[in-house]
Amino acid sequence: MATLTETVKKPEIRQTQCFIGGNWTPAASGKTFDTINPATEEVITQVAEGDKKDVDLAVKAARDALENGPWGKMDARERGRLMYRLADLIEDELDELAALETLDNGKPIRDSRGADLPLTIDCLRYYAGYADKIHGQTIPVRGNYFTYTRREPVGVAGQIIPWNFPMLMVAWKWGPALAAGCTIVMKPAEQTPLTCLRMGRLAQKAGIPDGVINIVPGFGPTAGGAIVKHPDVDKVAFTGEDATAKIIMRDASDTLKRLTFELGGKSPNIVFADADLDAAALGAHVALYFNQGQCCCAGSRLFVEDKIYDKFVDKLISMNETRKLGDPLDPETEQGPQVDQAQFDKIMRFVDIGREQGAKCVSGGKRFGDRGFFVEPTMFTEVEDNMDIAQKEIFGPVLSVLRFKDTDEVIKRGNATHFGLAAAVWTRDVNKAHRLAAELKAGTVWVNCYDVFDAAAPFGGFKMSGMGRELGEKGLDAYTESKTQELLELRSIWKWSPGVLLA
Ligand code: NAD
Repeated sequence: MATLTETVKKPEIRQTQCFIGGNWTPAASGKTFDTINPATEEVITQVAEGDKKDVDLAVKAARDALENGPWGKMDARERGRLMYRLADLIEDELDELAALETLDNGKPIRDSRGADLPLTIDCLRYYAGYADKIHGQTIPVRGNYFTYTRREPVGVAGQIIPWNFPMLMVAWKWGPALAAGCTIVMKPAEQTPLTCLRMGRLAQKAGIPDGVINIVPGFGPTAGGAIVKHPDVDKVAFTGEDATAKIIMRDASDTLKRLTFELGGKSPNIVFADADLDAAALGAHVALYFNQGQCCCAGSRLFVEDKIYDKFVDKLISMNETRKLGDPLDPETEQGPQVDQAQFDKIMRFVDIGREQGAKCVSGGKRFGDRGFFVEPTMFTEVEDNMDIAQKEIFGPVLSVLRFKDTDEVIKRGNATHFGLAAAVWTRDVNKAHRLAAELKAGTVWVNCYDVFDAAAPFGGFKMSGMGRELGEKGLDAYTESKTQELLELRSIWKWSPGVLLA
């Protein structure tokens, strides 16, 4: 991968304020917070710390744009055209945005450039194409009625996102919301507000009318909480931890908001002895260590069939030994720092707990370097199902390897968690592949692959991994209300009266 130019490596920080009704404004309180470079622990810049007052203004702007601005009356195809333009503008600034993402989040530039940015652009284009294809149905009913459904925008959408894929999460949220004709109040994660704010500027440049997209950076309980409780927000889409989702569900209950949740996981990645073991080892490595292990769908419970366990573990250890950690702006770097001190501390605590509970740390287990929140790629073997490192989401580069002997057993153990986001199976036996794909309780099951994402394929969780789906045609459901319209057929000689089949 080509090296970035020096100018791109130091992306100019241009947007640090709230984006409300097309204006860039300081927080009403005047407060700001620091955003940190996780690779150096240095402050990058200060960002406006929005709270309830700013959210109130943002919701007002979003409501006004929905009901009185050009957006509500715009042809659906024109909405799509503006979304394509936004995607093009992001593509024009791909290198700079990738560098900004890496600066704020710490992810290696090869990932932000090679995965986050292309997926972001693709998602916006995918949903741009949907803007004029959100159809209702005509429905034959009893009686002399012409009955049809329309799909109307749900209204003002509150969107609260995490820090692990900052730009991509924006695209997953804005894409279906804009295609459906909603307006938006978004709160980016406090750790990574910069690319979201930059996307706000690009949306403005693309011609998306003022007030359609509003961004309030700030903290969860204040800015996020205000969005959730606001009576004029029609729907909240949240990605983050299940503990936060429970708070949001309670906070949203007074106004009975529509909710969609994309939450965490403890995904089983199952390797049978008959698999292509080199491919499976690479799959297991990527499934856990990609994005510093900060993936909701990370393959964090690796089940390996007993007869190949030791050989497979050796392969994984040697891959960890050659994994390149370091400056995330270096195109050779494969693993950057964790996003912040809190995540670093949480991960190191899990490493201690793993040892205390009797698992064997066979790789990593320490801090890397002396500055930045780097954690060595870490692996535990001889992990038992009831250990904390096999049950709880670590959200870091810590892999738990478990042994299994037969298919029935691994299906049962794979499903024995309250999560259900993703799962994977590695085998050459097509019958086994189909059986596991059907019986594993997860929103996505990958077979002989991992982390395959496409804007067209729905994503989301069973059980406590989520509610509703994002991406694909399904992702539009959360942003539309179905309205049934029933008309007495005028050509008829029948006259309406209550009841059916009355002539
Ligand atoms: P988090 O729940 O702490 O924060 C996510 C967002 O919610 C942030 O913007 C935060 O400010 C906000 N928030 C926090 N408290 C809030 C409150 N009381 N009211 C409203 N908003 C509030 O999660 P995190 O630590 O930022 O992200 C990591 C988690 O996200 C992991 O558990 C991971 O599995 C999950 N995740 C899931 C997916 C998915 O698609 N399923 C994707 C990415 C991350």
